[in-house]
Amino acid sequence: MDLSELRAAFSGRLHIDAADQAPFLTDWRGKWTGRAIAVAQPDTTADVAAVLRWCHARRVPVVPQGGNTGLSGGATPDGSGRALLLSLSRLNRVRAVDAANGSMVVEAGVTLVQAQDAAREAGRLFPLSLAAEGSCTIGGNLASNAGGVQVLRYGNARELCLGIEVVTPEGEVWDGLRALRKDNTGYDLRDLYIGSEGTLGVITAAALKLFPLPAAQVAAFVALPSPAAAVELLQRAQAALGATLTAFELMSDTCIALVEKHRPGARLPLAERSPWYVLAEVSDARSEAHATEAIEALLGDAMEAGLVGDAAISTSLAQFDALWALREDISEAQSAEGRTIKHDIALPISRIAEFVAATDAAIAAQFAGVRLVVFGHVGDGNLHYNVSPAADRLGREHEGGFVALEAPLNRLVHDAVAARGGSISAEHGLGVLRRDEAARYKSAVELKLMRAVKTALDPLGLMNPAKLLPPGPPGPAGGAA
Ligand code: FAD
Ligand code: ZN
Repeated sequence: MDLSELRAAFSGRLHIDAADQAPFLTDWRGKWTGRAIAVAQPDTTADVAAVLRWCHARRVPVVPQGGNTGLSGGATPDGSGRALLLSLSRLNRVRAVDAANGSMVVEAGVTLVQAQDAAREAGRLFPLSLAAEGSCTIGGNLASNAGGVQVLRYGNARELCLGIEVVTPEGEVWDGLRALRKDNTGYDLRDLYIGSEGTLGVITAAALKLFPLPAAQVAAFVALPSPAAAVELLQRAQAALGATLTAFELMSDTCIALVEKHRPGARLPLAERSPWYVLAEVSDARSEAHATEAIEALLGDAMEAGLVGDAAISTSLAQFDALWALREDISEAQSAEGRTIKHDIALPISRIAEFVAATDAAIAAQFAGVRLVVFGHVGDGNLHYNVSPAADRLGREHEGGFVALEAPLNRLVHDAVAARGGSISAEHGLGVLRRDEAARYKSAVELKLMRAVKTALDPLGLMNPAKLLPPGPPGPAGGAA
């Protein structure tokens, strides 16, 4: 295809050489690789619109990409080489911060860390926080409705977004950057684009919610016997600490042992091991002493009730960071151990303990040679119910056998989730990884409504084809393009 007209149509970069394109065509985990006619990196919203008009006129599919840290293959084109990869990374300006309104407007390619820093410079908190924050972008966070470790208190990306600016597949710009907490003027288009994984249009900027910066943050690392005890402690913590409880993460001892094995210097902060641990965080508007007092009182009562064992409470920023590192390094440690099979599931919090007990038992009965690596945002009902090879099956000769377990394990875990009213993708989206499974668990009515939205907003099916929804029945927006 002649790309000279495209090159002339916008300001920014256009990568045509295979070597220049390569970093954009494989996902962060190296699980998916695709091809593209080119990689475009426009400079402004107007440039994005010009690129989309060019694509629309020629029926060229578009795959939007932010920081390329998504875990579901949504930002990688297919192998046909027909699509244009549209990187938003050069739309990286903070347009405005309005401290009094508790809002800021940033462009889609601003990284999450840049957005957090811009808020902090204005004396405010932008609370979205996840381990990929140095690379992932606000556009990608919104397109995949990212979660992370502070959802319990502040909500996920959707709840942190007041308005967005979008370029439609036809190349029109919708300025929906209203920084309002209340706006009941018809269908909520913003919420359609959030979580749409690039399948409806391109998010080019967003108005985000800001919060007061806490005066102090304290973390507690707590030993307990079971997920049931963790859920009980969560109820007590919410009652005692109210909105100052900003994170409540669960992890098994297997997770911590993996971090200790793969990260030099990592160490359990407790005298004795326990089957499970909780990392709770308190963000206090008054002082560190006030936060510590509140968390000590909570844990004192829980110990007396026989609910929890030993606990460590941070007394410095270094200790606070060290406790958090034990939680945040689990994913990387699991990858360092060998192949992984991951499940990002959500359940009603009241059903988590019973789900873990029943699913652990079913896996032990039906699958040999695997190890469960279970952790997650238990305060949000979101578990990363992951699987690694057993310690004696780490050699290359066992890899094939482990990979063959993926489909039956997925089925077992996701059936158990569906049976309890849960979700098979809590925060990582569907992309291509969970696209077909999600269609399996959704009702025909829900799928029909989703397809109707897709057809209405992207009638030619050019936006990120065959992501999120399976290539559907005949029709331009079925995704088969
Ligand atoms: P990309 O990977 O580039 O894209 C993700 C999807 O959004 C794709 O479908 C893409 O087409 C679409 N997209 C990207 N930008 C736009 C745009 N401007 N307009 C329209 N569509 C767009 N996720 C969590 O939710 N919680 C976590 O705790 C978490 N931890 C992680 C830890 C690590 C180490 C890693 C690698 C990932 C983690 N993730 C987590 C997943 C990932 O970081 C998030 O999904 C993130 O929001 C993706 O942002 P991105 O800019 O990298 O998007
Ligand atoms: Zn997570």
